[in-house]
Amino acid sequence: MEGCIFCAIVAGQAPSHPIAEDDAALAFMDLFPASEGHALVIPKAHAENVFEIEDACVRAVAGLARRVAVAMRSVLAPDGMAVYQANGRAAGQTVFHYHVHLIPRNEGSPLTFHGRGRADDERLAELATAYAAKL
Ligand code: AMP
Ligand code: ZN
Repeated sequence: MEGCIFCAIVAGQAPSHPIAEDDAALAFMDLFPASEGHALVIPKAHAENVFEIEDACVRAVAGLARRVAVAMRSVLAPDGMAVYQANGRAAGQTVFHYHVHLIPRNEGSPLTFHGRGRADDERLAELATAYAAKL
């Protein structure tokens, strides 16, 4: 969809640090991580939210998200992992292309779903490669 940053990433027209993909879904590093290692999983076909997306795309995203979560856990060994998906501005959605967040969590760290700063590209590339190697 025109003007959608995640569609541009799927099309290779915007930069990203990809982790994995299949026919219907793509996983890549979040540029403004809520915690180190934060990743996103999206459908390749544009759908704004849970109210619009097709079941098959939800299944594809959920399957890839689960596989990437397992890989993230083996790389970072966090205490937990938040798997989060926002629908609508009121729910905290800021990019209007359906996506699932994978946010590594550690005991005592602030519970937040949005980061403050842009991550270092070198570190994102390193993490994406490490995750991919565990898939
Ligand atoms: P939400 O606020 O739930 O819609 O999540 C959108 C997420 O996309 C946020 O965590 C942002 O940090 C992330 N984000 C926005 N633009 C990009 C981008 N170009 N590449 C990677 N992540 C992005
Ligand atoms: Zn889109």
